[in-house]
Amino acid sequence: MPKDIIVAIDGYSGCGKSSTAKAVAQALNYTYIDSGAMYRAVTLYLLQHKIDPAHLAEVLNALPQINIRFVTKPNSTPPIYETYLNGDNVEQSIREMSVSERVSEVSAIPQVRHAMVSLQRNMGADKHVVMDGRDIGTNVFPHAELKVFMTADLTERAHRRKAELEAKGSTATLEEIIENLAERDRIDTSRTENPLVKAEDAVEIDTTHLEFDEQVAKVMSLAQEAMEIS
Ligand code: C5P
Repeated sequence: MPKDIIVAIDGYSGCGKSSTAKAVAQALNYTYIDSGAMYRAVTLYLLQHKIDPAHLAEVLNALPQINIRFVTKPNSTPPIYETYLNGDNVEQSIREMSVSERVSEVSAIPQVRHAMVSLQRNMGADKHVVMDGRDIGTNVFPHAELKVFMTADLTERAHRRKAELEAKGSTATLEEIIENLAERDRIDTSRTENPLVKAEDAVEIDTTHLEFDEQVAKVMSLAQEAMEIS
């Protein structure tokens, strides 16, 4: 009987973590959790309430007012996951460039991280989850049975992100996207609290030259292996 496991997928911005994690969760019939969406939702709340992330006292006052939930759209196949902030569906707005531009600054605030990490640990308490992010294998679930660290060439990542954003009607240019991804990588890897770093026991997958189905197949085979041996 295969064991329930936690699949932690970390890596740089825009290298296909979320789409891979969703496909793997669907194939395993596991719950998918997008930890980045949680930091994006906090950022959106601060922007909506004109709270400057640099004003720590205001951010700390705001944190208890923020309620984040994930809802799977009824009857959606493949499953469509939507992020709710205080009862509102914010799935589209949290992906906008205005949020992407500030999210790494917000996610570097230790108190914001502590609050989100505690929610993430609760969500994964019964295993049976695929969670993607930056610190899932190193900090949220250091004992995850499978840890994957995804990388890809920056220009390739930007092209993929541009296609995704265009499909949603965004007009962001390739240069703007490259700049945003590079800046987020810089902040995410250099912050003091849980920086983005490959866990020692993570399997690295460079997706630059991989087709989507190939990257899903790689993670699936690692997951099957982990289920057998854990
Ligand atoms: O995954 P996504 O690109 O949507 O994440 C948005 C931002 O949230 C990242 O650039 C990073 O600053 C932050 N993040 C984080 N830790 C995670 C997931 C995301 O700091 N586990």
